[in-house]
Amino acid sequence: MLDATPKERVTREALRINSCKTCQPVGALYAALGVHNCMPYSHGSQGCVAYHRTVLTRHYKEPVMAVSSSFSEGASVFGGKSNLTTGTKNVFDIYNPDIIAVHTTCLSEVIGDDLKAFIRDMEIPEGKLVVHCHTPSFKGSHVNGYAAMMAGFISYLSEKTEKPNGKLAVFPAWSEPSDLRLLKHYMDLMGISYTLFPDQSGVVDAPMTDHFESFPKGGTTIDEIRGLGDCTHVLGLGEWTVPEPCNALSKKCGVKSDIIPYPIGIANTDHLLMKLTELTGKEVPYAIEEERGQLIDLILDQHIWTSQKTCAIFGDPDFVLGVTSLVLEMGMIPKFVLTGTPGHAFPKMCQALFEQYGVEDQCQAFEFDDLFTLHQLVKNEPVDVLIGTNYGKQIARAEKIPFVRAGWPVLDRYGHYLWPNIGYRGAMRFVERISGAIMDHVDQTCSDEDFDVVM
Ligand code: SF4
Repeated sequence: MLDATPKERVTREALRINSCKTCQPVGALYAALGVHNCMPYSHGSQGCVAYHRTVLTRHYKEPVMAVSSSFSEGASVFGGKSNLTTGTKNVFDIYNPDIIAVHTTCLSEVIGDDLKAFIRDMEIPEGKLVVHCHTPSFKGSHVNGYAAMMAGFISYLSEKTEKPNGKLAVFPAWSEPSDLRLLKHYMDLMGISYTLFPDQSGVVDAPMTDHFESFPKGGTTIDEIRGLGDCTHVLGLGEWTVPEPCNALSKKCGVKSDIIPYPIGIANTDHLLMKLTELTGKEVPYAIEEERGQLIDLILDQHIWTSQKTCAIFGDPDFVLGVTSLVLEMGMIPKFVLTGTPGHAFPKMCQALFEQYGVEDQCQAFEFDDLFTLHQLVKNEPVDVLIGTNYGKQIARAEKIPFVRAGWPVLDRYGHYLWPNIGYRGAMRFVERISGAIMDHVDQTCSDEDFDVVM
């Protein structure tokens, strides 16, 4: 399928081939799904929101709710104020959410629609709310849109009152519902009082019941978002994604934040737990320590299959940085690490990790790049395993590389969103899948003499 990809690399400045990112509104929509009784609203054409909903629905295998301003030629020329005013009224009348979270699209950004003024001029029903953020898709990626929507909620809703609530606010970078469930499990085990924002668990992984609910039980409540201003501190998970909402809360309510790496891998999970202890005074219970010990045991058991093996990792910056940290802990060499999201800090952060493990001469990191580049890289210098979203499957097939699906999106498998990536438990699953992929490849390609039931 990708047999025509040439080995020779040429400099490209105005062309992306097989992009490694999607558009900002997708991230804004996903952040809004993490708020209870919230309807995500795309201010643009129906085609945009159809795509945003489809890609989320295909990953989570759940019907993702979102509406649109349904721009036609008139709105595209004269602006979308009337569409937004009518649209939000219809949404409150028909679906009755507590809050509508509006994000822009390429079209409304090019027109220059002033959403703040539009929302100020609207008649919003008593007890209901409308918030917004700007998500121009001609820059950034879905990661930026996710952060912008978080900041949008905070700037509209969060308040500082005279009564501190004693809670720790936790802002995760884009996370699977399974990751959020594990994070809450850890904090519950430690006896921490917290507000997790946003929280898509119980929304995009809601159980099958005998009736359809437009708004499932999960999500951070509006009161909890209001109360973020009274929290003792913010713990941001993901140095790439969460500075924007952390800064928004600091600016509005003066709540200080600590931002740590996204907790994939041993060191990053240790960092999370130590930071939770430092900020709350709560101890890490034995149940979590036990998981850490199991993970170390697993890494030791299988290390002959992964130690010094090379890999290529691609996807969203915080996720990729976490997986890179984990594979280095496994003794692997992350030869190529790539994200489609723009930002010069990414290669620097990767470089710091490479240097920490003494593999800087063997590894390269790329930001704002695409899967065509990745394919050319592995075509010239093959790797033992490829780790990333399902969009790597063509490369894996063309180059006959064992492939581990990880990150967002994974559209061609089921159930992945039920298993965590973060924490010691998530790392165990990664180790199992990476070593399993390498061993499967050996089984499929070794000679009859070497083929055995014991490996
Ligand atoms: S037009 Fe812009 S906002 Fe709409 S789907 Fe395409 S990139 Fe996303």
